[in-house]
Amino acid sequence: MTHLRDLPSVDRLMLAARAELDEATPQALLRAAARAELDTARRALQQGEAPDPEALSIEALARGVRARIEQWLTPSLRPVINATGVIIQTNLGRAPLSAAALAAMAAVGAGYSNLEYDLERGERGSRNVHLECLLTRLSGTEAAMAVNNNAAAVYLALIALAAGREVIVSRGQAVEIGGGFRIPDVLRQSGAILVEVGTTNRTYARDYADAINERTALLLRVHSSNFRLTGFVHEPALGELAEVGRAHGVPLLDDLGSGTFLPTTPYGLAREPTVQESVDAGADLVTFSGDKLLGGPQAGLIVGRRDLVEQLRRHPLARALRVDKTTIAGLAATLQSYLRGRATDEIPVWRMIGIPLETLRARATAVAAALSAAGLRAEVVACQSAVGGGSLPGETLPGAGVAVAPGPEGAEHCATRLRRGAPAIVARIVDERLLFDLRTVLAEDEPALVRRVIEVVGAG
Ligand SMILES: *Cc1c(COP(=O)(O)O)cnc(C)c1O
Repeated sequence: MTHLRDLPSVDRLMLAARAELDEATPQALLRAAARAELDTARRALQQGEAPDPEALSIEALARGVRARIEQWLTPSLRPVINATGVIIQTNLGRAPLSAAALAAMAAVGAGYSNLEYDLERGERGSRNVHLECLLTRLSGTEAAMAVNNNAAAVYLALIALAAGREVIVSRGQAVEIGGGFRIPDVLRQSGAILVEVGTTNRTYARDYADAINERTALLLRVHSSNFRLTGFVHEPALGELAEVGRAHGVPLLDDLGSGTFLPTTPYGLAREPTVQESVDAGADLVTFSGDKLLGGPQAGLIVGRRDLVEQLRRHPLARALRVDKTTIAGLAATLQSYLRGRATDEIPVWRMIGIPLETLRARATAVAAALSAAGLRAEVVACQSAVGGGSLPGETLPGAGVAVAPGPEGAEHCATRLRRGAPAIVARIVDERLLFDLRTVLAEDEPALVRRVIEVVGAG
């Protein structure tokens, strides 16, 4: 039986752990790890757990100290192989970036840049110029700006244009977009007053018109990105809302959510409204994410009327929400792929959406063959991949993947080991088998995927 008094002192444990540590390991870091290790051991003993005395030996404790230090010095944020088939997976970091975006971010991040410096004139410049001309050209608007994410874009627009005044929203659009972003809450936080019109399933343009008064600051349309209402439903077309707004001199703000510059229908997907369509329909301001279907770094993009964008830019909150140089560099490179007409080749999100079924089948066949050659029971299966990220709810793309029978410990156990290993792999479990949807697995990650699956399932 081990007692509290048998635990070594912090100093003695540090000395024991020190022997096998890098000499440069700071004493303070070692001390913190030793204290944490002893705290854990003490708590276990106090709670009456009777741990294996071996686990409390000074050697075992020293190993624990070294493991803690190693963990503290390893980035907790690290690459993951996404075998779920969900292309814009918010929990897995949404859009993988294009080679051009990454190169631009590295180039600008490694040194100084003309972020806010006009190289022509040799004087202070604006960080906004780097994105504005690209965004206005692509969207056909007068003005544009970028903030940290689309939630911030909507918030900034509401605060700058509607604080203390009324914003009219269809009852069917006073929704939760996900992870704490509820339109009614954001409105309240901005100081704007929510005026809901219509009903959950049916709202007409005249409902908006009837609600307009001298306190009205904005009409807000929120794209239903992550749910679909079907049946006896009606929402006015954006153009009708724009007409109501124009007739009463009230601007129309369109929160597109994902927002795309490219049509989704050529891929057999439902129609996701494009930024250009919103602008053409008469929205005065349009907001959308940088890291959903756009396929760039996290950002919130705002395009529209110059006078309105100017009001947003001048608001003190704009400074708090501004994007940094690496984001600007990555976004600019991403937008240039669209301008060049190369987005579907260069931007990973669009490449994944557009992979031909035959290509996926061929890749799945090769992966299944490599796994079978190692003695695993693997077969090519049909998959339904999703776009995700609050875009195109319920829409799927037919694809191909590999199903692998787990070892005797079961699919759940194997999935856990794959998640915890290096590189981490997130797969799905379907009918007690591990399912790897290859659409979202980067081709260069396939060898690592095969190696890890053999290690985990082969040893199971
Ligand atoms: C995703 C989404 C947001 C939030 O955008 P983030 O870039 O995640 O902050 C807001 N509105 C809609 C309609 C969305 O789909």
